[in-house]
Amino acid sequence: MKRLVLLGPPGAGKGTQAAMIADHFCVPRISTGDILRNAVREGTALGQQARAHMNRGELLPDSLMMEIVEERLKLPDCKNGFVLDGLPRTVIQAKELEKIVNIDIVVAIDVGEEEVVRRLAGRRLCPICEAGYHVEFKPPRQAEICDRCGTPLKQRDDDQEGVIRNRLKTYREWTAPLLEYYKRKSILRVIDGKGKVEEVFRRIVSLDLQKR
Ligand code: AMP
Repeated sequence: MKRLVLLGPPGAGKGTQAAMIADHFCVPRISTGDILRNAVREGTALGQQARAHMNRGELLPDSLMMEIVEERLKLPDCKNGFVLDGLPRTVIQAKELEKIVNIDIVVAIDVGEEEVVRRLAGRRLCPICEAGYHVEFKPPRQAEICDRCGTPLKQRDDDQEGVIRNRLKTYREWTAPLLEYYKRKSILRVIDGKGKVEEVFRRIVSLDLQKR
């Protein structure tokens, strides 16, 4: 499996696809958003810093994010490849990442903004067992209640409509330029993010992801 970066706007399905690719190829999924959300939950110093930025839909400082990811990439499970989900998010991060590790392929999931807002605003999460739902696409049997453990579902703090708009603005301004950046390096593959999760996954695995 190659060293892969997943790109796409918030709500493109990066998290879901990253987990499926990682499972399929038995490599780790490194999600910077998950690392930060764990830190918030645990109330660490990083968590306190992260919470404020995340709740505004803004990015954390590049240098901090690079430290976190550099530590993670040092672990032995990254030896045979990995899926990076959530970093790089700026051209500076992409340039710093190159100094740490060689990236073989960048897969960008292409989804329009309207669709992204619909997906994110309907997303629900069980705060206890972390099962994911969607009011439209994957509703729980009883509205707003977790099927598995009966807990009332929550929205991610940053999935509130106002924050979603800001996350999209941040994406347009800081992350979208990475498409051009990686295109010039000839390692960008753009796939259509519309349709069912399995369809999108098939599009991704039909790319040549095996290491030569
Ligand atoms: P995600 O789960 O990938 O959508 O990330 C959630 C939030 O974490 C983002 O909106 C940012 O506030 C923060 N974040 C995650 N990854 C990065 C990164 N590489 N650089 C800066 N901020 C990040």
